[in-house]
Amino acid sequence: MKSVNRRHIRVACIGNPNCGKTTLFNALTGSKLKVANWPGVTVERMEGEASYEDTDITLIDTPGIYSLTSYTIEEKVTRKCAMDDDIDVIINVVDASSLERNLYLTFQLLELGKPIVLALNMMDVVKERGMEIDLHRLPEMLGDIPVVPVSAARRSGLDILLHAVIHHYEEGGGKKGVLGEKIEYILEYPQEIEEKIAKLEVMMGAHFPTHSSVRWHAIKLLEDDEEVKQEHPISVVNIVDRSYEKEIIQCKYAYIEKVVNEVLFHKNKKAASTDKIDRILTHPIWGIPVFLLIMCLVFFLTFSVGDALKGVFESALTAFSDLVGKGLDSAGVSAVLKSLIVEGIIAGVGGILTFIPNIFILFLALAILEDSGYMSRVAYVMDSLMGRFGLSGKAFLPMILGFGCTVPAIMATRALETEHDRRKTMLLTPFMSCSARLPIYVLFSEMFFPKYAALMAFSMYVIGMIIAIIVALIMNLPEKGKSTNSLLIELPEYKHPNARTIRIYVWNKLKDYLTKAGTTIFIASVIIWFLLNFGCKGMISEPGDSFAAVIGRLLVPILAPAGLGMWQIGVALLSGISAKEVVVSSFAVLFGVANANSAAGMKMIAENIHNVNPEFGALNAFCLMIFCLLYVPCVATVATVRKESKSRLFTLKMIVLQLFLAWLVSTLVYQIGSLLL
Ligand code: GDP
Ligand code: MG
Repeated sequence: MKSVNRRHIRVACIGNPNCGKTTLFNALTGSKLKVANWPGVTVERMEGEASYEDTDITLIDTPGIYSLTSYTIEEKVTRKCAMDDDIDVIINVVDASSLERNLYLTFQLLELGKPIVLALNMMDVVKERGMEIDLHRLPEMLGDIPVVPVSAARRSGLDILLHAVIHHYEEGGGKKGVLGEKIEYILEYPQEIEEKIAKLEVMMGAHFPTHSSVRWHAIKLLEDDEEVKQEHPISVVNIVDRSYEKEIIQCKYAYIEKVVNEVLFHKNKKAASTDKIDRILTHPIWGIPVFLLIMCLVFFLTFSVGDALKGVFESALTAFSDLVGKGLDSAGVSAVLKSLIVEGIIAGVGGILTFIPNIFILFLALAILEDSGYMSRVAYVMDSLMGRFGLSGKAFLPMILGFGCTVPAIMATRALETEHDRRKTMLLTPFMSCSARLPIYVLFSEMFFPKYAALMAFSMYVIGMIIAIIVALIMNLPEKGKSTNSLLIELPEYKHPNARTIRIYVWNKLKDYLTKAGTTIFIASVIIWFLLNFGCKGMISEPGDSFAAVIGRLLVPILAPAGLGMWQIGVALLSGISAKEVVVSSFAVLFGVANANSAAGMKMIAENIHNVNPEFGALNAFCLMIFCLLYVPCVATVATVRKESKSRLFTLKMIVLQLFLAWLVSTLVYQIGSLLL
């Protein structure tokens, strides 16, 4: 039972990208937010609940930032959260294994004058590397704030952290209200600057008497911060004669160096192995082939191991389908309903479920690559290459996410600084083959290229990247010579992937996949079944008279030059807009195949296609795969682009471009291929 006098506080986790905020948040609240060993993953603030003794705590996870200056959307989100008056305590999450880099933000937060608790995370890494941190001296040098060593991944130190938060709230919370009490700031600037800060503080106090972060604002005014100037239109010309930003930054770094020298021991042992590995993996020339090789390996694994596991699903589905069929027969259910259930729903949804082993392996591999720290290396390696295509290096991160699912990838473009860069990246991201397209590649490459199935599927990923490069180059033509920001991400240390993180990651993705099978794909299968079994004359037995055939035939003249002139393909592609997997379930429903992903199912589909169109061969299948790779992503992606770009026109242009490209490329391949073969 809840006691009446429970107290409730709001606590924000703030820190650099990749320092373990989300891991900590998940550990404290029991949530399962996505964690990744590279920046830009948490793009929105998230809330969760935790409790400690008689206190309920609302915990807020924020996007990682390096400073409280606001340039990117993420920085703005977090800065706003840090300044928010209803945040009672800030947990500043710090990666203890790279103190020097993390403390810069800490000192900015300290200047806010809010109650802060430092969570010294990744202590397991610190120990593993033989480093030591003086836990008495560190809090002293930070102005006596609580410093709690924790390991979010190992879930150690968490209770002490919560205890410190509440204890500090009781003390610091009191301090906040008492007027006139001066908070001690440990970091002092040269006298000239301190005098100006003091003057500005007085002016701020006079104009904004309720303000809680007066010193921070005064410093920001001295740094000539646009946003703070706009929000606080007070005349400071005689004090702020120029921007003092450089001196203020230098002063902070000088003090941080002093802190690190005093509290950190044996830091030289650090990262020797990371350096050694990086000499190859981030080599300017070797880095890219190594990346392609690794991705190639991932897809071969996806195929071989996925196939080995597939058998289990196959027999289960076949047994299930038979059982349901027999059950319906003996229950005397009408033929229409039986057809709907067996040929519509089980074929459509069940067929998609048998791809789970492949999807599982793909996500497992991506999770391990991300969590080990490799993916941020790829972004780093790609940076100079991206620059050549007029893209910021940061654009590569969303693109890699795109191999998983395009929706979060589009959202991750928020890490980019300008709207222009964001839109460009949004336009290119769908060309990275998402996992939903994998079943299409698996099905058609195994049907038409039995010997080279994995290679053919992998070629889709490569073609997608090549098309993205070409589109980027074309877009870059009008603005040639314009320089873009280079990538400023710090490379995290390599580490053993964390089992819990990987479990959460893979489970979340599988859950999405299952949800999609139960919702979008379910509905799409029912609709397709209806369109196939009904026509102008009512229920029909000849699919050629169905509504689907009528709709599909409209598309035939357009698709014919690409070797895809069958109404069945038109219907499958059209329904694939709801979700790309639906292309596969459409084929299953179209040809009444219970399990599209089994050897028998594939044979049946191939035979059916052959019966309808004897000409349809490997080249046509390849063109179909290309078309599926390039044409409009699913409705969820389109909606996300619309939301993130806030422009209907841009979204429309994107759709038109993608449809056109899909048609153009598959037509070119088909026409040239037909001449050669
Ligand atoms: P965020 O960007 O700050 O939200 O960081 P994440 O929570 O996404 O974590 C970044 C990476 O650090 C992930 O790979 C985590 O598994 C890992 N990580 C987080 N906390 C710890 C820790 O205490 N020890 C170790 N070894 N790894 C951690
Ligand atoms: Mg995060």
